[in-house]
Amino acid sequence: MSARIIDGFAIAQKIRGQTALEVSALKEKGIHPCLAVILVGENPASVSYVSAKKKALAEAGMADRSVNLPCGVNEAELLGIIADLNRDTSVHGILVQLPLPSHIDEQKVIAAIAPEKDVDGFHPVNAGKLLIGQTGFVPCTPYGVTVLLKEAGVPTDGAYAVVVGRSNIVGKPLALLLARKDINATVTLCHTGTKNLASFTRSADILVAAMGRPNSITADMIKPGAAVIDVGVNRISDNTKKSGFRLTGDVDFEAALDIAGFITPVPKGVGPMTIAMLLRNTLHAAQGSFK
Ligand code: NAP
Repeated sequence: MSARIIDGFAIAQKIRGQTALEVSALKEKGIHPCLAVILVGENPASVSYVSAKKKALAEAGMADRSVNLPCGVNEAELLGIIADLNRDTSVHGILVQLPLPSHIDEQKVIAAIAPEKDVDGFHPVNAGKLLIGQTGFVPCTPYGVTVLLKEAGVPTDGAYAVVVGRSNIVGKPLALLLARKDINATVTLCHTGTKNLASFTRSADILVAAMGRPNSITADMIKPGAAVIDVGVNRISDNTKKSGFRLTGDVDFEAALDIAGFITPVPKGVGPMTIAMLLRNTLHAAQGSFK
């Protein structure tokens, strides 16, 4: 058996195309969606994520308001900038690229963003809405995983889903989304305190790896025919590459191919969906959908 590879890149392109159409309809009504993108410092990974996001915004016909701040910017100054952007009616969404330098309290910064402009879905109000089943902004990566499952035709109703990783940006919100009535999976959330991880993963119809540990999910941990979603993005040194590294997920992809029913590759699996869902959230912010 060879798993069906879920082409996250193609699914993301389709969603981005639909978003671009909705953006042009909105512009005809005089609303030009705009996302403020705040970057503090020059962390190379953050710089590259921010430039990919801005490129995607432009391709969807949306504007960006770039706010580039030096690494030494103080917390009060950053909070002041966010307060100004909250008041600015021409800015519909606000994204603060994480991580922030250690002298800045990330949770304080996230909480300073107006919930109706919180396109990352990290604000406590949006996290709370997700928990109690109200409509709000959902974090882009877990949102993208649910769309991938739907688009790939993975059966979810009554499925047993195991999510490995309990971060606030991936694992926890994804577990809540998978348990929602529209997806209707029975969910187990695993982490480093889980005893005998394989005993859970081996029963999973849907297995999501969001650990940030390369090749931690091996073929013997996968149920035959399962849908395996690999959220992990890990840099592995590779002298054959110009960059000196290559990207790999949390799943032993080659070995998993023989046992899984569906699998996402890394790259071009979950990653492109994250950006596609950021564009959707920005569109919804401009439409005022979640006010
Ligand atoms: P994180 O905050 O470091 O969380 C990792 C989680 O995995 C933690 O809950 C940790 O458990 C758990 N974990 C780690 N090793 C484990 C093990 N051996 N067994 C069981 N659980 C284990 O990471 P994150 O921000 O959620 O990101 C996870 C991965 O997804 C990273 O590789 C990240 O780069 C990637 N990511 C990709 C995208 C994308 O767009 N593709 C977006 C976001 C993140 P404890 O809580 O017990 O420590």
